[in-house]
Amino acid sequence: MNNNIHILKISNTSQLIVAFVGAMFAEKTSVLFGFLNRHARAGQKVILFRPKRDTRGKIPQTHDGGGLIIEKFGGEIIRVSTCKEVLSLALNKKAQVVGIDESQFLPSNLIKILVRLYEHSITVYLSALDTDYRARNFKTISEITKHPLVYTTKLTAICNFCHSHDGVYSLRFDEKGNVIKKDIKRIIIGDKIYQPACHKCRRRILKRKKKK
Ligand SMILES: [Zn+2]
Repeated sequence: MNNNIHILKISNTSQLIVAFVGAMFAEKTSVLFGFLNRHARAGQKVILFRPKRDTRGKIPQTHDGGGLIIEKFGGEIIRVSTCKEVLSLALNKKAQVVGIDESQFLPSNLIKILVRLYEHSITVYLSALDTDYRARNFKTISEITKHPLVYTTKLTAICNFCHSHDGVYSLRFDEKGNVIKKDIKRIIIGDKIYQPACHKCRRRILKRKKKK
């Protein structure tokens, strides 16, 4: 992973592509919203794009249920299903700052679009899960984080089992509380079926006997 910048070094005069990545419950969306709000308050045109595959409610919700104020300052929230839509809408609407939430839901040509936005002097912030519930990388996101133009900040949750180590994995459970090890329909966003886990707890949980 490209870790060549720390979040505190991000300046409002630099033009940037910034990626906030990590497990579920790492507050990626909250951090993304904070940065978008910061630009909106400064009078810049901010657009947040949300992939249509993100199945959560109409208004983007952080886990505490709020946070985004860009619409109060003339910003917009737009749902998209392709990367091309991100580019054409950002250019047509003369965005100065673009946010993309849950970026892992967009196709892997997203990095090309981010570079095009950069070439049009548009600052980009995005949030994304870096791995799925089986700890496999999302291609869209690995393409982004290894690109030299992108400044990546890794965020972590706190392990929901030992409550002392960083939760870097997003484990998925079924209704009986069994961890899901097999490949099933890829991801649904839902607070109830996922739990963040550290490496040690994940290993222990994967070895548990299945409840019937
Ligand atoms: Zn743990």
